[in-house]
Amino acid sequence: ASKQKGGNCFTYFTPRMQQHAENRMRLSHDLRQAITNQEFFLEYQPVVNLQTNQVVKAEALLRWQHPVKGLIPPMEFIGIAEDNLLIAPIGEWVFKTAIAQCKSWRLSLHPQFQMAINKSPVQFAPDHRKQEDWLSEMGQHPEFNGMVVIEITERLLLDANTHVSERLAQYRQAGVQVALDDFGTGYSALSYLKKFSIDYVKIDRSFVRELGVSSQDGALCQAIIVMAHSLGMQVIAEGIENLRQLRILQEMGCDFGQGYYFSPPLRTEDFVAWYQAWQRQTVISTRHP
Ligand code: C2E
Ligand code: MG
Ligand code: MG
Ligand code: MG
Repeated sequence: ASKQKGGNCFTYFTPRMQQHAENRMRLSHDLRQAITNQEFFLEYQPVVNLQTNQVVKAEALLRWQHPVKGLIPPMEFIGIAEDNLLIAPIGEWVFKTAIAQCKSWRLSLHPQFQMAINKSPVQFAPDHRKQEDWLSEMGQHPEFNGMVVIEITERLLLDANTHVSERLAQYRQAGVQVALDDFGTGYSALSYLKKFSIDYVKIDRSFVRELGVSSQDGALCQAIIVMAHSLGMQVIAEGIENLRQLRILQEMGCDFGQGYYFSPPLRTEDFVAWYQAWQRQTVISTRHP
């Protein structure tokens, strides 16, 4: 920044950048203790079947309750965890916690309950292999079948090699489904969709937001749905915030949806309360259409 001032003194960091870097370092340091200090927890957002109103899926979303800074959203620390190798143990914690919750909800809420878990592309690196003992375990226990959906992003498929496609195929063999998250925001080459074993496409909420306002976004959502269906995949719309968006997506034949219109991500007890209220409501509305 000081190049214009002349001389050969280069300052690479503006005060703002400096502060950003220091903040990152501090968070990186604190992140190391977060698992043992039990500072992580999960919230669960219901995923609604848009054709039947049934809810048998939820997405697990990671939260970090920092002892000093308070609640830190995942966008502010997942990147740091990816850079300093903490994503593997954190991802493992998320997985174990979400699976335990799903098993319990299969007993108390619905026998087919299914949990979607976000997975960073970094967790697909070959040396993270040993973290996945659960894969073979899942394959051996039929009761786990259909219990887990792994959410991946286009970033993973971009530099995809046979290793990634093999892994996704292994998931399918073990009864684990795969969803392509934030679809449309990345490098969405349509050829990805047939090359990999993908069960769901998740339409990014930036396209859902303008539904009924922008005809382009309407055309885009419709095209994604038609294309996904013709390739044998189902579609989940993210970020449904109002009835207008919901009605349009239902009309377009979208299979599933999630968003604040139904419910924000909730802690365990709140999720159960929401679920029970939803059950009562859908029973009433099917009895008295
Ligand atoms: P994502 O997987 O696309 O998750 C959806 C995000 O949209 C969540 O933000 C959710 O709270 C938010 N959301 C849900 N409904 C609405 C809505 O109606 N309107 C709006 N404006 N937002 C809505 P969150 O929880 O902050 O997570 C952000 C991202 O962090 C996730 O995006 C995911 O990429 C990542 N993430 C979260 N948990 C994990 C995790 O356990 N592991 C990894 N690797 N990444 C995670
Ligand atoms: Mg997701
Ligand atoms: Mg998403
Ligand atoms: Mg998104």
